[in-house]
Parts: sequence; C-alpha cells; structure tokens
Amino acid sequence: MPQLIWFRNDLRIHDNTALHAALQAGPSIAVFTPSPQQWLLHDDAPSKIDFLLRNLAELQKSLAGLNVPLLIRPTESWQEAPEVIAQLCHAFKIDAVHVNTEYGIHESQRDAAVGAHLVDQGVLFHSHLDQLLFKPGSILTQSGTYFKVFSQFKKACYKSLYDAVPAIIRTPQAQAPLAITSDPVPCSVAGFHAIAPERQTLWPAGEQVAQQRLKAFTDAAIHGYLERRDFPAQAGTSQLSAYLVAGVLSIRQCLHAALSANQGEFASGQQGVVTWINELLWREFYTHILVGYPRVSRHRAFKPETEALAWRNSEKDLLAWQQGRTGFPIIDAAMRQLLATGWMHNRLRMIVAMFLTKNLLIDWRAGERFLMQHLIDGSLAANNGGWQWSASTGTDSVPYFRIFNPVSQSKRFDPNGDFIRHWLPELKHLNAKEIHQPKLLTGLFGTADYPKPIVDLSSSRVRAINAFKDLSLAA
Ligand code: FAD
Repeated sequence: MPQLIWFRNDLRIHDNTALHAALQAGPSIAVFTPSPQQWLLHDDAPSKIDFLLRNLAELQKSLAGLNVPLLIRPTESWQEAPEVIAQLCHAFKIDAVHVNTEYGIHESQRDAAVGAHLVDQGVLFHSHLDQLLFKPGSILTQSGTYFKVFSQFKKACYKSLYDAVPAIIRTPQAQAPLAITSDPVPCSVAGFHAIAPERQTLWPAGEQVAQQRLKAFTDAAIHGYLERRDFPAQAGTSQLSAYLVAGVLSIRQCLHAALSANQGEFASGQQGVVTWINELLWREFYTHILVGYPRVSRHRAFKPETEALAWRNSEKDLLAWQQGRTGFPIIDAAMRQLLATGWMHNRLRMIVAMFLTKNLLIDWRAGERFLMQHLIDGSLAANNGGWQWSASTGTDSVPYFRIFNPVSQSKRFDPNGDFIRHWLPELKHLNAKEIHQPKLLTGLFGTADYPKPIVDLSSSRVRAINAFKDLSLAA
C-alpha cells in the first residue's frame, strides 16, 4: 500500500503527524515541490527560502535514516500541483497522500484542488492537524463564531489544554529500504538571490539545531523571559520563529518543553514560562483568525470600517523607513537589524509598525509587504496580525489614540542605547541620554552623517488621531 508524504512547511521527522500516519499505513516515499513563482507572489524573503532549502537538505538526510526517499518535483505555481502530485501517484502506484494542513487562502485552495484531483484518480488525500495545537473551528465563542479578542481566545485554549495537552507524535521506525533514489535538493531557486554565508551561520539548519536552541532556551532564558523579552539588546527571547515557520520545530515540542520547565503548569508557577506559552497562543490566535476571517489574507482590514482611512502616499518617507534613515535611532537600528539578519525583535516590530502607520500615516499593507520580503520567519498570519494590531485596523487592537512614541520606547527598552549603538555605529560616541534623539551637531563629534528626523512626532500624532476620528465621523 504505497503512501506519499508531501512535505511543505513541516521539515522534520520528529513529531510529524503526516509522516507518522504515512509510515503507519505502508511503505512511503516523500516529495517536496519547490514553487518559486508562488513564493514570489507571497513576497517570501530570499533568506526565508534559503533557510527552507537548507532545512530540506537536512530533512533528506534524516529521511534517509528512515529509508524514505525524498523526491523533488518543481511546480512553478501551485496551480500545477494537482497534476504534478497525480503524476507522481500514478508513477509509484500511490494509494494515499498525506499532508499537514496549511491555512492561508492559497494553501487551502491548493490542497482542495489536489485532493479533488486525486479522488478522481482513486487516490486518498489525508490532511492532518499539525501546525497548530487546536484545529481552527474547535475554539469558538459561545455563539459559535471565531474569537476576535486574544484574551478570550486564550482563556478558551487554556480550558482545552486543561482537558488534554496535545501529545507528541512518536518518531517513526525505519521502513524496509525501497529501490527508489532520492533527488538532489537544490541550493537555490530562480528569483531568490543567494544569502551570504555569514548570514546563514546566524540560522543554522536542521532539527538537531532547532532542538538544541529550544532546550537552551527552556533550560535557562525562559525563566527570565517576562523581565527580558522587551529589551532588544538582550537575548531574552527564544529566536525560534524561523524554525517554527519552516516546521523544523513543532508547536507541540515547544509547548511540552515549556511545560517541563514549569512542573507541567500552564497558568501558574514560573511567570517566564507562562508568558512564553501566551506568545505561542498568539501564533495560534492569528492563524485561527486567518481561517475565521479570510479577508485578512486578501489584503483587507480586519475591521472593515478602517478601509476608508485616508492613508498618506509618500514614497520618500516609505523609503527612508525601509532603509533605516528616518532620523529616529530606534527605528533605524531596528530596520538595519532586519536588513542584516532577516529577523527583528518583537518590541521593535511593534515600534516600527506603529511609526509607519501612525506617525507617517502610511498604509499598513506597505509595511506588511516590506517585512514579509525581508523576514526569515515571514508568516502571513503573524505578520498580518502584528501589522493590523499596530495600525489599529485589526483584532483586539490598541485604541487608535494610543500611539507609541519611538523616543520614549527607545529610552524605556534600550536604556543605555546598546542596541542602537550596535546597529548605528555612526552614533556610537553618543551617551545614553543623547543617543535616543541625537542633536544634529557638526564637527569632530558631530552626527552629520545621521539624518534629521523625517517627521515631527507631536504633530504627526495629532494627524493620525484626526484621520481615525474622521473615520468615525464618516461612519
Ligand atoms: P519568542 O518571544 O520567543 O516567542 C516564541 C514564539 O511565539 C515565536 O517564535 C512565535 O512563533 C510566537 N510568537 C511570539 N509573539 C508572537 C506574536 N505577537 N504573534 C504571533 N506569534 C508570536 N512572527 C512570525 O513568526 N512571523 C512574522 O512574520 C511576524 N511578523 C510580525 C510583524 C509585526 C508587525 C509584529 C508586531 C509581530 C510579528 N511577529 C511575527 C510576531 C513576533 O514578533 C515574532 O514571532 C517574534 O519576534 C519571534 O521571535 P522569537 O522566536 O524570539 O519569539
């Protein structure tokens, strides 16, 4: 009874629901379908695709240990997927295809089309819950709708977790060898430029590294997570997001590791652990939102009434923000961290998003797109959720009049200016007081290289508040 496991963003052999199910059902082969045109359409970053392919190469080695050959079948766009998978099933007389469910609109359409095409050929298509703790649609309000407010969603998740924590799936045993040779895994694909080796070393590939990072975090840093998570100069967060997005690490593995660091407790005990589990639930929340309110993956605002907001159209300001030349050191340092590493600290993602959408009054979609094009951990659900939250167009968002002041945020979360100094060496001679809002001096100790602020914080704040007020007047 040959089975096919189709890998996508679930590049691991441990705790992998689809892989386990396939190998339980019979001799299995695996396939991966690189889809560069589709990835470009989704604004996936070169660093994200590079990371995916490096992890795929590691996965192939692990699968070899299970005697599961990995075939590579390129499909430029997902429209070709039904035919490509069906041909493979025909060639290898496959009885059933196993996948782990993915939740974006295009992903759902792709899988529905593949499933329907396979049924016509007499092949079963099994889609397994794996990327999330809870199946979307299983955590609902009393009236049967998807939650819109995180705190209420979280409460319902905890209720479910108290009943049963989703168990880790057993790692499959090696099957008998098959007379099928694996295909070479490509190092790169058209449309995505190469990543410098120094950048790659920041994000080593493979399950083993991911597990080591999870262990290192849950053994130590998690206990100080509550106190340190907002300070970008400190390694206070797990930096596991890229591994979760590529599925090199599972959400269940993260949850179990956190629970064992807290004697099995979710909501009491170590506050660092409790706070980290809440962050894992934010990931869960935004993915449920994607399914419950599919307009958000069609570039629409979660709050439809905010669609009418009069955003400013300023290429110049957008470019200054993108290139880290706004004249606000915390914003510029954050953007340079993103451009250099493919990752940005969560506190900074909030600060730069709020600055773009409020102080510059530029449409959140421009920022969402730019981050996606550069993040190694780019995820439609989390990125869209984070942007809409910051722009006050989304779920459970801060009220529009609560606008972060980037200078106060800088003083509060980078008090000594260490983070700024690291990414803006042109300001490294400034002391902890001056560095958050440099005075533009010339001469030997001047900051002539550093741009003047591109916007006045007070008047731009009022402008943003008025734009939102106009919206409520028009309603
Ligand atoms: P930790 O603090 O260690 O958190 C552990 C894990 O929980 C993360 O790896 C992530 O999977 C999840 N998580 C944490 N915070 C959030 C959150 N607010 N929303 C959803 N999941 C969360 N996260 C992404 O994974 N991909 C994105 O594209 C993305 N874009 C964002 C854009 C904006 C504007 C904002 C405000 C947030 C965004 N986030 C995104 C959420 C968050 O910033 C990152 O998950 C986090 O910085 C990753 O670092 P970490 O692994 O050290 O996180």
